[in-house]
Amino acid sequence: MAKEITSEYPVLRSSLFQKMDLPETFTPATLSRSGAVFASLEVSRHGLILSYRITGGGILSNVHDRIDFDWTCPAYGGQRVWFLCPRCGRRCGVLYLGQRVACRKCLDLAYPCEMERFTKGWALHQRWLSRIKDGKPKRMRWRTYDKLQAKVAERAVSRIQPFLASMRRRGFNGK
Ligand SMILES: [Zn+2]
Repeated sequence: MAKEITSEYPVLRSSLFQKMDLPETFTPATLSRSGAVFASLEVSRHGLILSYRITGGGILSNVHDRIDFDWTCPAYGGQRVWFLCPRCGRRCGVLYLGQRVACRKCLDLAYPCEMERFTKGWALHQRWLSRIKDGKPKRMRWRTYDKLQAKVAERAVSRIQPFLASMRRRGFNGK
């Protein structure tokens, strides 16, 4: 579930540029990837200049970013190219192309984490609910039944509502 959310963003991998014969100065290039249409892309040995338009949560954004490359020499030889995240400067192999270009850490990644926590919590909630939805099972003690009822009610109110509100604020409209 969490992965689905992240993969909504088109992804750019530094390995794409690994074997390219990159020019010393910025040169216009084309790069096609499903889900991302680059209005403009310039590439050099030193990095990328990327411009694109993206719609998300009903907002159209024009994104323009420069992404620097960082070359390392791995033990097995050759050179490996990395991106430097334009937001935090961290070295990374994958950038997400959303309303801004960002690495996983930057891209408000509380988002899938929250989703994961939510689905786990939700599964538990459903399990509790399934035990008591038709009233108290014969063999269950009243104390257990009351406790489960309270838990279900508490979760429904205190966990799910704020979570849905926070998702809506992030432009997620639910299903
Ligand atoms: Zn970052």
